[in-house]
Amino acid sequence: MVYQNSKSQLKQQGLAPNKKLGQNFLVHRHTAQRIVSLAGLSKQDTVIEVGVGLGALTTPLAEAAGRVIGLETDSGLIRLHKKEGSLPDNVELIHQDVLKSDLDQLVRLSGGRRLKIIANLPYSISSPFLFKLIEGHDYIDFAVVMLQKEVGLRLVAESGTKEYGVPTVMLASCAETTILMRVKPEEFHPRPKVDSVIVRLAFQPVPSRVSALGKIDFNLLKKVVNGAFGQRRKTLLNALSSTWLLDKQAMEQCITASGLKPSIRAERLELEDFVRISRAIRDKKNS
Ligand code: SAM
Repeated sequence: MVYQNSKSQLKQQGLAPNKKLGQNFLVHRHTAQRIVSLAGLSKQDTVIEVGVGLGALTTPLAEAAGRVIGLETDSGLIRLHKKEGSLPDNVELIHQDVLKSDLDQLVRLSGGRRLKIIANLPYSISSPFLFKLIEGHDYIDFAVVMLQKEVGLRLVAESGTKEYGVPTVMLASCAETTILMRVKPEEFHPRPKVDSVIVRLAFQPVPSRVSALGKIDFNLLKKVVNGAFGQRRKTLLNALSSTWLLDKQAMEQCITASGLKPSIRAERLELEDFVRISRAIRDKKNS
């Protein structure tokens, strides 16, 4: 069934999908319902929906969860929902840019519980949004996110491939990532030019691979991973030397002490290698 309201509702209100805000609205109710059911919510849950749009996901979310806190940056859409009263009673709409939102405040709004997030956002802000989730991983239970297919595949890439990079490693350091389903362009109005995927990022329980590593210095890991991939064609030694974390000789000792060759490239390293190098760098700096 196609949502009556996607095209016609916009037209009636004199609104048009805003390209800059990445407004590609889901049009099939069963697809929205499938996405929501894959999130695995219960009536005890408060869910944060990011990018409410016309409410395609909001209504099934309101049926599956106890409460929905919906964030939307477009004031025209906020006005539309307020005027029409089109959203269920257990939905609270907040006019907010998610990139500026305070996760701590959202946790308070969620009754002090870690966040359960569903997001269908413009693909132009996927990267800052994903890094916001990575930075705020302690505040989050899980996030179910619509992404451009290529971006989603990058998050689950194997080491040694060109898709493997900073987001893959940083996400592996705090979450278990699973591709839940693919979504075709014809599921949206207007149709995007790319295929999409729904990805689940499970921050809780902490993945066993991460807990096996013990306490991770997240800020240092971030510097090391960014430095290593910043010049991914260079050897690890050359790439890390230009981070100025240590001089070249000390950096070489850290890499060797971590059981790696200085000539290796970043894309060959697993999360565990990056954590070992970070520890060796920290120890060297403290010695
Ligand atoms: N959830 C709806 C759906 O699935 O049909 C709408 C999805 S549409 C791809 C993205 C929505 O996110 C739009 O309504 C847009 O206005 C909103 N949006 C864009 N940037 C945002 C931001 N920084 N913070 C919150 N919402 C944003």
